[in-house]
Amino acid sequence: MRVELTVLGSGTSLGVPTIGCRCRVCQSPDPRDKRTRPSVLLRYNGRAVVVDTGPDFRFQALRAGLDRLDAVVFTHGHADHVLGLDDTRAFTLNTNHTIPIYGNGPALKGIRRIFQYAFDGFAPFGGLPSIQDHLISGPLELFGPKFVPVPVLHGRLEVLGFRLGPVAYLTDYNVIPDSSLELLRGVETIFLDALRHEPHPAHMTVAEAMVEVERIRPKEAFFTHIAHDLGHEETNATLPGHVRLCYDEMQLEFEAR
Ligand SMILES: [Zn+2]
Ligand SMILES: [Zn+2]
Ligand SMILES: [Zn+2]
Repeated sequence: MRVELTVLGSGTSLGVPTIGCRCRVCQSPDPRDKRTRPSVLLRYNGRAVVVDTGPDFRFQALRAGLDRLDAVVFTHGHADHVLGLDDTRAFTLNTNHTIPIYGNGPALKGIRRIFQYAFDGFAPFGGLPSIQDHLISGPLELFGPKFVPVPVLHGRLEVLGFRLGPVAYLTDYNVIPDSSLELLRGVETIFLDALRHEPHPAHMTVAEAMVEVERIRPKEAFFTHIAHDLGHEETNATLPGHVRLCYDEMQLEFEAR
């Protein structure tokens, strides 16, 4: 099945530009230096599935011309990945449609806490997101292709990456366990966390992400969850040709079963 992937957001939790910052990347005129919070959209077979709904979800959905949403898959429950969930109600307004959302235990627990009003179902004035949560306990078949969860560690938190055929999307981690490397065997295109150059206790640096590229050996790698430390052009100039920073609205197509 032909899958079209769109990078909805490629930035770190604060976004780039960062509010109040006058640094060179935050003031860069290059559109690829404008990074909203991390998310990807997958369109196939007339369906639309997003990985994460961060605080920029509404803007990202409008920008991508999204007119339907069939499911949301969550990597984890941090604010920069979930806070836009309320805006999914635009897709269920005046319908009986409920959007299934998927995540691991900690992610769903966090989402239930933040969006308690949606799960309470008490809506005297309407306007609630219509969502149903589902725990991910193995590969997920969503309208055809199989989403294989790839567990990674983000500090002490277990986060999920996802593999869909030849493509894998991993964000927010600093450790890829050996058992998950097995799940990535033969992957052709991979998205990897690469926050900045300075070390971080729960994210990868560019140099650490390059070590993962060497271990996984994909045909191409795209770095994401990028902070304002990294200018798009200047960082790409330091990377091998098959490794690039990704950017908002970047698209690729692939076959998945
Ligand atoms: Zn994040
Ligand atoms: Zn800045
Ligand atoms: Zn996170």
